[in-house]
Amino acid sequence: MTSESGRPDKATVKAADRAHVFHSWSAQGQIDPLAVDRGEGSHFWDMDGNRYLDFSSQLVNTNIGHQHPKVVAAIQEQAGRMCTMAPGFAIDVRSEAARLIAERTPGDLNRIFFTNGGAEAVENAVRMARLHTGRAKVLSTYRSYHGATSQAINLTGDPRRWASDTASSGVVHFFGPHLYRSHFYAETEEQECQRALAHLEETIVYEGPGTVAAVILETIVGTAGVLMPPAGYLAGVREICDRHGVVFILDEVMAGFGRTGTWFAADLYDVTPDLLTFAKGVNSGYVPLGGVAISEAIAAQFEQRPYPGGLTYSGHPLACASAVATLNAMAEEDIVGNAQRIGERVLGPGLRQIAERHPSVGEVRGVGVFWALDLVRSRETREPLVPYNASGDANQPMAEFANACKQAGLWPFVNMNRTHVVPPCTITETEAKDGLAILDGALSVADRHTVAAGS
Ligand code: PLP
Repeated sequence: MTSESGRPDKATVKAADRAHVFHSWSAQGQIDPLAVDRGEGSHFWDMDGNRYLDFSSQLVNTNIGHQHPKVVAAIQEQAGRMCTMAPGFAIDVRSEAARLIAERTPGDLNRIFFTNGGAEAVENAVRMARLHTGRAKVLSTYRSYHGATSQAINLTGDPRRWASDTASSGVVHFFGPHLYRSHFYAETEEQECQRALAHLEETIVYEGPGTVAAVILETIVGTAGVLMPPAGYLAGVREICDRHGVVFILDEVMAGFGRTGTWFAADLYDVTPDLLTFAKGVNSGYVPLGGVAISEAIAAQFEQRPYPGGLTYSGHPLACASAVATLNAMAEEDIVGNAQRIGERVLGPGLRQIAERHPSVGEVRGVGVFWALDLVRSRETREPLVPYNASGDANQPMAEFANACKQAGLWPFVNMNRTHVVPPCTITETEAKDGLAILDGALSVADRHTVAAGS
């Protein structure tokens, strides 16, 4: 059946989805995906006409909002001119996208290898590090997400790894800094920083420095909690890597391209990795695109010998055209500056005020349009509102909280015991305040599950 618009109606969309779409990370029989009609700016609408303020930026990728007219026009224009061209050719939009990205990445990360998304970027960064060093092992943190392809999921720390962990991927996990739930019994940021660095160095020494190709970190850990590294940590990792001849990879797939109120999260810490992975915000996911920004030293390795990796759609013209338009629009409209101001003036102060009113909020952390509320049963013990990796009944408090947000017209980002506040970088002050008011109301639902409420 079709609706008045000539497109399939809601029942038809839902039926074909149920019959034929196999969804990510889900027990297929236990999900009921919302049928969505359209998006615009900071909002999207379901097929019943309900509007949602998108506090998730989908999967934290629509940094420029939904349907930015300049990006839509660039894709349309490119489609009319050249839809596809193999990666072996030099074409204008690919060259220009690479130039604009290299111009923004820190230090000497001047060469861009394009992929279709974040996981492939991570796969290739690790391959480059191994070829560069001739070593096999890669170190990553337990609190991390790096993607769902074979190497990337093994690098991932969170429980999504378990089902795919081959225990033979060459990955060694360690603990990064996180003062609120310190693994190092630290009481200050300085202690946490020093002890986390000592732990990393010890891990490298015990693994055998001559076996370690790379350390990969999310500059600010995203899905696993919006964890901001303490001052000095990333500089310390850089120094440890240099001392042991280890490649330093920063994964900026989620943190990059404006989310932190700077082009890259690395800019906040004045650190330059050897390789930087990106995706999501580079073109807000309008067409799949990711990549690796490569230092001069690593790129030089492949001046005279071939790089053994490639993808049919590497540097796809539609993806590159949308990246060029996105990066230009972000600069022309000061979208990165907007993210910084919204964080400093609205989200930061607003979330801290909300935290004072709600016993379920244990910690507020973040920057720009990249924030998390760590929800707890008790502020004293910091026991998470739901257990690690909870599902079903055990996850009820978070499910109730998420439903309360949706009922009130806010689409939240929820992971374990946290809600992340990750709207588009283009969000207006009024929209941000509207979203905070809805969060404030929905947190009363979470409060009912705290020790303070007798739960
Ligand atoms: N790295 C980080 C930090 C991410 O947040 C993600 C996705 O959320 C990925 C890698 C994987 O990206 P993709 O889903 O595009 O493969």
